[in-house]
Amino acid sequence: MKVLVALKHVVDPYVRIRIKSDESNVDLAGLKHSINPFCEIAVEEAVKMKEKGDVSEIVTVSIGGQSIQESLRKSLAMGADRSVHIQTDEPIEPLSVAKILAKIIDEEKPDAVMLGKQSIDGDNNQTPQMLAALLGWPQATFASKIFKEGDSVLVEREVDAGEETLKVSLPCIISTDLRLNEPRNVTLPNLMKAKQKPIDVKSIDDLGVDITARTKLLKVTEPAKRASGIRVSSVDELVEKLKNEAKVVAS
Ligand code: AMP
Repeated sequence: MKVLVALKHVVDPYVRIRIKSDESNVDLAGLKHSINPFCEIAVEEAVKMKEKGDVSEIVTVSIGGQSIQESLRKSLAMGADRSVHIQTDEPIEPLSVAKILAKIIDEEKPDAVMLGKQSIDGDNNQTPQMLAALLGWPQATFASKIFKEGDSVLVEREVDAGEETLKVSLPCIISTDLRLNEPRNVTLPNLMKAKQKPIDVKSIDDLGVDITARTKLLKVTEPAKRASGIRVSSVDELVEKLKNEAKVVAS
């Protein structure tokens, strides 16, 4: 089975972000970026499936500026075979990402496409679902376990009532959740080897996709500051305050 993994290069989850003084957006200047955590999990799963013999080839694809090649290189060091970089410096919304991915899928003809369940910068959780709709393919979102079974894939998902197992026929779209695996550390020799693996660069014009935005970011503001706590001198005082002052919601 050939797997295509779509990955996004995002601001590193461990850096503290600031908002621009005019509240027009987050200020990303000079901040460390890395592979979106959910996408890293998707790469790891594809590599594990290749190691088990269920996957024959892994192609990673990312859309963005020159710097996204850092994340593509990381995916190659983790075990992907080759990468496609769709070059654009424009901000790009999920529907456009899905349309571009659909074009690449048309060229690459993978049996399964794996994506993160959401990008941690935009928190959209839209691209996998839109991609499945554009292609008319079955989808299994928020995968917490994936098994190949003949011409299908079994996907376990955590839902409110417990665990659900879906059987999806190939080709399909899978979006990955946090509990699926813990991505491996990339070793220096593998990073060196990854430099020999190809990254094919294409422009949006090559693909003929219209990426005109349909949504406009109006403003970004800091979350409301939490009121500071108070110290109580006894358990009785705590109970009295909980009874009379706290907003306690009974279930
Ligand atoms: P989103 O819908 O933005 O939350 O993104 C969900 C998933 O779509 C991500 O985890 C990626 O797998 C994929 N994706 C989103 N944006 C891009 C991008 N610029 N390049 C490649 N894949 C992307």
